[in-house]
Amino acid sequence: MSKSDNPQRVGLIGWPVEHSISPVMLNAAFDALDLNWRYDLYPISPDQFDQGIADLRAMGIRGFNITIPHKQTIIDHVDSLQQETQVIGAVNTVVAHQLDTGIRWEGTNTDCSGFLKDLIACIGDPQPQQRAIILGAGGAARSAVFMLARLNYQIVLVCRDSNKGLQLIRDIQRGLYGNRSADAVVTTQMRMQMRTIPWANLAQISGSVDLIVNCTPVGMWPNVDASPWPDDIPLPVGATIYDMIYRPEQTRLMQQANAAGLPAYNGLGMLVQQGAAAFEIWTGQQAPLAVMQQAAKRALQL
Ligand code: NAP
Repeated sequence: MSKSDNPQRVGLIGWPVEHSISPVMLNAAFDALDLNWRYDLYPISPDQFDQGIADLRAMGIRGFNITIPHKQTIIDHVDSLQQETQVIGAVNTVVAHQLDTGIRWEGTNTDCSGFLKDLIACIGDPQPQQRAIILGAGGAARSAVFMLARLNYQIVLVCRDSNKGLQLIRDIQRGLYGNRSADAVVTTQMRMQMRTIPWANLAQISGSVDLIVNCTPVGMWPNVDASPWPDDIPLPVGATIYDMIYRPEQTRLMQQANAAGLPAYNGLGMLVQQGAAAFEIWTGQQAPLAVMQQAAKRALQL
């Protein structure tokens, strides 16, 4: 039997998914370790979601990644959620555990560890009492806020929909502080730690800012001339910019940062780290990070 016969199957669900470089990155990792695993794209439209998920179960898939727009919807279709993922409220990786009682799907989130690992690789260990601005309030913002809040960052969340921003903050605070949220002192402290503002108030942020994380798709290929940061508002002196976008390699936001003399990083390292974490969850083997990074760069023609 050749290696390509009957591989262990994993992949990516989303709509659309054709643009994804995950198959190149993950299949390069499987090849490098000579594992008979295969990563494919599984486009599932929102109106065919239940059927798409039933098909994956029927084929005995070993696990899969989830991208827009299914990161929240999938929660109702797994058998359990890893504890941190429950707090974050967004699943980007499912692993199928093969138990005596049958196959159990567990939902987890590797965006958060991928973000933090790459952030540390870029800026070093976060220092105490740091202040961050998070742009956006979607799934990726949830991962970033969760990880930074755990490091006691003071966070200003900038978003279009204040209810969504408040809900994000409430979910993370409830997950991190639990019942202590009933304590008035902690609540006041927590309120100071995290708040949400509309984009129109961006210019009013005063005091030092250490980190700005773009968790919106603004500036992503093909809309490469767009930036989430308005040209008429100076970027805070001393801030590091982390743009989760990895296509293009140098986003307009990163160009603005460089023009202001500020360090700026794209999301390629996060992409590789979250893929590596999924690889390790599925196979139980250490991911070949360098192989994955090279494959990702090749796929992006960097
Ligand atoms: P998402 O759940 O759709 O959230 C996107 C957020 O951006 C939402 O809060 C949305 O606002 C906001 N937004 C969208 N367009 C905007 C605009 N024109 N102006 C202001 N805000 C806008 O998406 P996601 O999963 O969080 O992903 C966000 C970005 O991170 C994407 O570019 C994605 O590729 C990237 N990402 C990268 C990695 C990586 O590994 N590097 C991992 C995950 C995500 P509303 O809430 O008002 O709609």
